[in-house]
Amino acid sequence: MDLVTGGAGFIGSHLVDALVEQGKEVRVMDNFSSGREEFLAHHEGSGSVEVYRGDLLDQEAVITAMEGIEAVHHLAANPDIRLGTEVTDTDLRQGTVATYNVLEAMRVSEVGRISFASSSAVYGEAGVMPTPEDYGPVMPISLYGASKLASEALITAWAGTFGAQGYIHRFANIVGPRGTHGVIFDFIHKLKRDPARLEVLGDGNQEKSYMSAHDCVKSMLHVIDLGEEGPVLNNLGTGDTCSVSRIAEIVIEESGLEGVSIDYTGGRRGWAGDVPKTYLDVTKLLGTGFEPTAMSEQAVRDTARVLISEIGL
Ligand code: NAD
Repeated sequence: MDLVTGGAGFIGSHLVDALVEQGKEVRVMDNFSSGREEFLAHHEGSGSVEVYRGDLLDQEAVITAMEGIEAVHHLAANPDIRLGTEVTDTDLRQGTVATYNVLEAMRVSEVGRISFASSSAVYGEAGVMPTPEDYGPVMPISLYGASKLASEALITAWAGTFGAQGYIHRFANIVGPRGTHGVIFDFIHKLKRDPARLEVLGDGNQEKSYMSAHDCVKSMLHVIDLGEEGPVLNNLGTGDTCSVSRIAEIVIEESGLEGVSIDYTGGRRGWAGDVPKTYLDVTKLLGTGFEPTAMSEQAVRDTARVLISEIGL
């Protein structure tokens, strides 16, 4: 059986779907802080998915959740990068300490495999674009990015010291159905409040890669299935980018609203710690034979369409 921490969340629930599709039995550990029961409701009664409601900061609970587990997919974390500008210990606790608790429970329970949802945020403002996995030194500029880098280091330390097999995935921005945060989600909520005006944080020139949640979880499992030894590090993304101003245009187009004015708050970044441009080099991923089904703009458009129908305008 596989354990998915954060399995009731946006990406986690898509991963649960993909694992079940592979014929796996899955246990989800989630505290439902941002996860939702309805994201897993379609598995109810299937016998394939067990939900364990618990908090990763409770070490005993994490050890209990490890019973009978062969591999862990660790996705639970605070997903809101902006929160670090106001609350300074959230990423430390929900990121770094939570990852420590998972690794320690794995050691105690003799679980040998961990796959981890890291982020392009570890690169900070990288001097090389697109940024390959061996770019360094990596210097995150957000507390979130720092917690991801610390978690990666704990995983390689556990691998080196206790022999665990680690898969570290540095995600681009992930978008898709069940999204509960992020730029597309924010724009739709803003348009719902005021259909005449869309406020965009920053100057709109921020540029990032957007990968669909479907492609994200498929690529995670593809990398794991290659069965490479040693800590395995991969950028997961599409190999192109889309600007925030283009996203604003796409969301407005998909909303069907007419005459919406786009107001930029100005400045290179949306908020302190926002990296204006992230562009992952995915040569390594593509070299393994994985191909994303949607490039950034398409992933953004598909997501805008589905979130508008999920949220309603
Ligand atoms: P999400 O908020 O939907 O998922 C996180 C899940 O973890 C939620 O279900 C939440 O309830 C759960 N959780 C949080 N703290 C917990 C705790 N202490 N104990 C138990 N459960 C807890 O966010 P997501 O976008 O699906 O992100 C999943 C992972 O991918 C996160 O680690 C995130 O940092 C990473 N990631 C996401 C993106 C993105 O664009 N969405 C990009 C890079 C990395």
